[in-house]
Amino acid sequence: MTALHLDQLTWADIKQEIQTGRDTVVVPFGSTEQHGRHLPLGTDAMLGDEIGWGLAERLGAFLAPTVRFGCSAHHLAFTGTISLGEKTFRSIVADVVASLSRHGFRRIVLLPTHGGNFKPLAEAVAKIEPAGGVRIYAFTDLIRLVGAAAESSRSFGVDAAKSGAHSGEWETSLMLAIRPEQVKMDRAAEGFLGELSEITSKVFDGIQNLDQNGVLGDPRPATAEAGKKYLEDIVEYLYQWVSDQG
Ligand SMILES: [Zn+2]
Repeated sequence: MTALHLDQLTWADIKQEIQTGRDTVVVPFGSTEQHGRHLPLGTDAMLGDEIGWGLAERLGAFLAPTVRFGCSAHHLAFTGTISLGEKTFRSIVADVVASLSRHGFRRIVLLPTHGGNFKPLAEAVAKIEPAGGVRIYAFTDLIRLVGAAAESSRSFGVDAAKSGAHSGEWETSLMLAIRPEQVKMDRAAEGFLGELSEITSKVFDGIQNLDQNGVLGDPRPATAEAGKKYLEDIVEYLYQWVSDQG
């Protein structure tokens, strides 16, 4: 069963699909925020579109439109970044889930593709009382996701620091695979390469304190070939995670 874009169907088509057993919907939560000098602000939202689609295909699900603003306060020092307050974000999550819960979906998969969304997503989901028969799957373990990304990069001979948590080799390779025309590799520069513990303790006070270009990792070894594999890996990883929840 292939995936379907929720927003490209009529309500009647969606209703019929749900009745015939397509009862899962994936909702990606991206961002509009700086991604160094080489990637566009919509990077996390585009990754949401593509990773979400891959996951929806594996699940035979609907893909809802990616929420294109996220919690990006730590990127606001960089021009063009648009950030939601965490309270606003939690309200959006609750309203999205409440809407979809009315229509017969049995599984609602909430997929953050931006680091700042993980914590408020977990907080939002903790407060939601799912409607009868509805199960919410929220991937909220950022450290596990960064770990899975680093493992993929290792298979291409790139270490975890370069693979990076933001605009590094992993994310840049993904963009070279899905939106090559939007990547400016000639402007790619090495970013912060220190410990993950230092990143997690400092990044939310402002990413510019770690790297003046807003990059965590090193985008220079990125390739489209690696990005295609990373996309497969992350989709498989998320599919396994959903499957493990039962
Ligand atoms: Zn990103």
